[in-house]
Amino acid sequence: MTTPSPSDLLKTLIRFDTTNPPGNEAACIGYIDSVLQAAGIETTIIAKDDKRPNLIARIEGNGSAPPLLLQGHVDVVTTAGQNWTHPPFDAVETDGFIWGRGTLDMKGAVAMYVSAMLQLKAQAIVPNGDIILCILSDEERASAVGAAYLVEEHAHLFADVKHCLGESGGVSTWLAGQKFYPIQVGEKLVCTLRLTINGAAGHGSMPIQGGTMATLGRVLTALDTQQLPVHITPVTRQMINGIASAIGFPQSAVLKLILKPQFTNRVMGLLGDASHAMNPMFRNTVSPTIVSASDKINVIPGQVTVDLDGRMLPGLQPAQLVAEVQAIVGPDVQIDILKADPPARANADLSQFDLLTNVLNDLSGNDGTPIPYLLPAVSDGRFFERLGIQNYGFTPMQTPKGFPFSALPHAADERIPVGAVEFGTAAVLEVLRRYQG
Ligand SMILES: [Zn+2]
Repeated sequence: MTTPSPSDLLKTLIRFDTTNPPGNEAACIGYIDSVLQAAGIETTIIAKDDKRPNLIARIEGNGSAPPLLLQGHVDVVTTAGQNWTHPPFDAVETDGFIWGRGTLDMKGAVAMYVSAMLQLKAQAIVPNGDIILCILSDEERASAVGAAYLVEEHAHLFADVKHCLGESGGVSTWLAGQKFYPIQVGEKLVCTLRLTINGAAGHGSMPIQGGTMATLGRVLTALDTQQLPVHITPVTRQMINGIASAIGFPQSAVLKLILKPQFTNRVMGLLGDASHAMNPMFRNTVSPTIVSASDKINVIPGQVTVDLDGRMLPGLQPAQLVAEVQAIVGPDVQIDILKADPPARANADLSQFDLLTNVLNDLSGNDGTPIPYLLPAVSDGRFFERLGIQNYGFTPMQTPKGFPFSALPHAADERIPVGAVEFGTAAVLEVLRRYQG
């Protein structure tokens, strides 16, 4: 078997339909396994569900640094109901892009990580620490047979690991006419809530004014028109300071006001489209997604529930989120926590940020500014955080100006610029070569 180029590897990965559910990642993981083994890299398959295995590969270092983990998932989200220009599992290359589900989230990055391992081996480079590659199933749902399973039941595989690279980061982005490389160093936590509204029940023929449905309307309107309070986390402060240093005075002075909670909303209002991505880094958020009321058209419900997709900043506690929501919906609405991620530290371990910055600067010719950022969503990184491993989102890509990077994952016409996987592979290889712990 000849070693595939990074782009060819990506195209092959795209052609395995690993839509989750059901996932069926076995063939895709089996292919990666065969590529690694053909190159003489030792692998282990660990599965809770045989159709949905995980792969671990390891290249030994000289022992002068702790092991470094690369982690990525091969499952993808559905394409149902989406209108694609090119079939989502064909990996068509045209117009400067490779098109397909998973090109960005995150088979492109998996191709980078696997290719970096292959090149490390082919060039007989001995890294300072062992390099552990972990290819996962099931990130897009619960990670129950993927990262959660490995972290809970096979934690010994990650013994002594202090840092890992994972999805989402190092992708060129334009802000205020300047080029940045945001590197993810933390992520928000899931804390879902249920609101319960109680009131008089009755027959549909005898209307009740001010009942549960009226309260529901008031609660949903309040959640739509009011925001939860601002919290400035250390990572957000570092991100804003990094952007400010690149954009120059006087814009930098205005932007820095966003770090003063009394001005945050006003400055956010000046950011235009960028505020949509920026706002969740400054506060906890809740999105009402499921409403349950009467199941009979002639019964006025005595109880209505509203489930909220709640997302919490690292360093904050579920009780704080509940209090913030209570202040908006009022004291008469009961709030219960449905599911909460374990708390996470607010302070990221930024010890490797300079390494990642230097690699990006060297490979891009200093054409942009790397900045740390907080992912408003969640990834498998949070499971590894539970083992005390700092996750860095690092899947470096050069993208053309105007490329709608953040809108494409999970959407139609997900695509990656031709050459992006080669750039990312070179950057990851350089990190593996230089990592000193
Ligand atoms: Zn992903």
